[in-house]
Amino acid sequence: MKIILLGPPGAGKGTQAKSISVKYCIPHISTGDIFRKNISEKTPLGVKAKNYIDAGLLVPDELTIDLVKDRLSKEDCKNGYLLDGFPRTVKQAEALDEFLNGRQESIDTALLIEVPRELILERMTGRRVCLACGASYHIKFNPPKNEGKCDSCGGELIQRKDDNKETVLDRLTVYDKQTQPLVKYYKSKNKLSIVDGALAIDKVFENVCSILGEQ
Ligand code: ADP
Ligand code: AMP
Repeated sequence: MKIILLGPPGAGKGTQAKSISVKYCIPHISTGDIFRKNISEKTPLGVKAKNYIDAGLLVPDELTIDLVKDRLSKEDCKNGYLLDGFPRTVKQAEALDEFLNGRQESIDTALLIEVPRELILERMTGRRVCLACGASYHIKFNPPKNEGKCDSCGGELIQRKDDNKETVLDRLTVYDKQTQPLVKYYKSKNKLSIVDGALAIDKVFENVCSILGEQ
């Protein structure tokens, strides 16, 4: 099963991805997580990506596309994967299609998590993420059992540098300009499914499963 999760920052992609990955036994590939790991390890890729991410801008397509092609060529992707945060531009989507066509493969579904704009700012500024495993929490909507500690791995929870109000607003503008066109892109290929991301986390997951269960 090859799934793409689409939706604005704060839609709940990472939150749903953790559960989908477990239920369907496919790796969760988050380009944001990969970039943040490279930044914390100060790799050449991390050094190149850092300023874009801190400013709420997209990392250039060339860097991102190569990174994903490399990741999708790994052994654990043989039976499918869940892409979270990629593609984010039409150029990335075309590159992904070209890569998959070359292997006589295609994605099954691009799943759009729709959320009204007025919910996003509170979700983003209240988000806390695990430094170790990338799990996403919310101080109000999805608090960890022990404050500051990840339920699944015990790692330290932090607030992302790009989750401040100003950068979130910039990221939403970037989403509207560069990523939103992908909705039309996948719709025209009959690959688009939509779930209501304004519901509670468990309810969204239930709806996601009824869509993916039919694949
Ligand atoms: P994305 O990966 O799309 O940027 P996340 O999954 O990290 O979004 O979710 C953003 C924030 O909103 C997190 O703090 C998360 O705990 C919270 N969140 C996710 N889904 C819901 C939901 N359905 N209802 C309320 N809060 C949610
Ligand atoms: P995310 O964790 O998905 O919210 O991504 C955090 C940041 O990483 C984004 O704001 C971008 O700067 C960068 N990023 C993640 N995925 C991509 C992508 N597919 N293309 C370009 N930049 C990306």
